[in-house]
Amino acid sequence: MTHRHQEGGRETLNPLLIKRQNRTDEDIENIVELHGELHKAFDEMEAETETERLQNLAIVVKEIEFRLQEAWGFDRNTDWHSWWFQVPHCTCPVLDNWDYVGTRLSVTTGGCPIHSPDPK
Ligand SMILES: [Zn+2]
Repeated sequence: MTHRHQEGGRETLNPLLIKRQNRTDEDIENIVELHGELHKAFDEMEAETETERLQNLAIVVKEIEFRLQEAWGFDRNTDWHSWWFQVPHCTCPVLDNWDYVGTRLSVTTGGCPIHSPDPK
């Protein structure tokens, strides 16, 4: 399983975006901390096999994603979320969903244990 995110400090953040969004040191600290939380949630999901717990952790990821948008000075908007389809055990198409980032569209697969579990 590969992750696009990585643990690290400010140096892993996009300097152009920091400048464009006029982020303060406090914002940056907040963003770095949120990335740490994201990493932790991904690790927990990686080790998790129970569908309901995976779905709960996916909700945690979504909430972190909202907080990241706020920390970056963006509106809270799921159209721009890109972590939900990268979480461990998600089988939804990554490249298609990257194409849909910034739109209202998204695509899930029927077998995904997190986004489209089999009916019980
Ligand atoms: Zn999925």
